[in-house]
Amino acid sequence: MRWEQFTTNEIAALDRAIPVVLNVAAIEQHGPHLPLETDARIGDHFLSRLEDRLGQRVLILPQVKVCCSEHHMDFAGTLSIRHETFLAYVGEILESVARHGFRNIVLFNSHGGNQAIGQVLLETFGAKHRDCRIAMLTWWRLAAPELSAIRESGFAGINHACEFETSLMLLAAPDSVRRELVSGMSYVETYDWANADMILPARGALFRSMKDMSGGTGVVGDPSSASAAKGERITAAVVDQLAHVIETLARAT
Ligand SMILES: [Zn+2]
Repeated sequence: MRWEQFTTNEIAALDRAIPVVLNVAAIEQHGPHLPLETDARIGDHFLSRLEDRLGQRVLILPQVKVCCSEHHMDFAGTLSIRHETFLAYVGEILESVARHGFRNIVLFNSHGGNQAIGQVLLETFGAKHRDCRIAMLTWWRLAAPELSAIRESGFAGINHACEFETSLMLLAAPDSVRRELVSGMSYVETYDWANADMILPARGALFRSMKDMSGGTGVVGDPSSASAAKGERITAAVVDQLAHVIETLARAT
């Protein structure tokens, strides 16, 4: 169910225990082969599949497409807001949801740059609304064990515009992938304690711009082994876990 497609009377009649999901995404460069909307498209793809599975047991808010992408601003087309703006804007959307009485809220993140501020929002909103349950899920962490079994690239192969994101776009928006521009591995190493990929996090955090990490290509990882079939396996793994979270949150009221 999509929040904005209901009338006010229909929203008023819904069970307040139904989990409400908000996707926070990005509009930012994804190398030469993927469009700026990649993270937003992937987030909506997962939620559409979730909606197909759960029907009236989940309520999906209008997506927040433009979020925190400062580390991509060396590349044309990237749009970014400050962390403070995210906290205020996304926080006020969730405040509205809580004021209408919904008690189970899931922030569903499809962009790395939103993880830290999303956690801050989780902690501030959760502390203020003790009558609500708020969870934050970032898709590649939510299904990390299952995704480890799907990956073919080695360490650092899944990061950005990579094996996984390209596979998901080949599935969700195949006409938008510039296939002739898909490259091989692109990752500029740094200190041993700070090298990272999506599901093999580093021991310590080091600030790096995407221009630095990608060596100027905009791609961090290895999209060469991407396929729509792999995108389907990734989707199944993520949506299974997402549905599990939604179902357990709904039951716990
Ligand atoms: Zn992305």
